[in-house]
Amino acid sequence: MCQQIAEGTRWTRCNHFQRHLVVAILDCNNPRCSRSYVHPTGCRDRSCIQNFGPEIQRDIDSVNEFCFACRAAQERAARGSTLR
Ligand SMILES: [Zn+2]
Ligand SMILES: [Zn+2]
Ligand SMILES: [Zn+2]
Repeated sequence: MCQQIAEGTRWTRCNHFQRHLVVAILDCNNPRCSRSYVHPTGCRDRSCIQNFGPEIQRDIDSVNEFCFACRAAQERAARGSTLR
């Protein structure tokens, strides 16, 4: 299946990737993949692959920190999670 190539920031403390934008699509050249250029337009076959494969992550910069989601989770844990 096709894969999206994304550029973004690597948060090296938690190794998470923050996507900025999708720069390209890597085509799998599979006519059974509805994302591919070679897939026939107007094909209604539901067994064709509909989704992108795992994203290819291209680091354009890196930060020696935890990402926003991880920091928020750490703050929630530090405050105690008794409140719902
Ligand atoms: Zn594909
Ligand atoms: Zn199809
Ligand atoms: Zn993270």
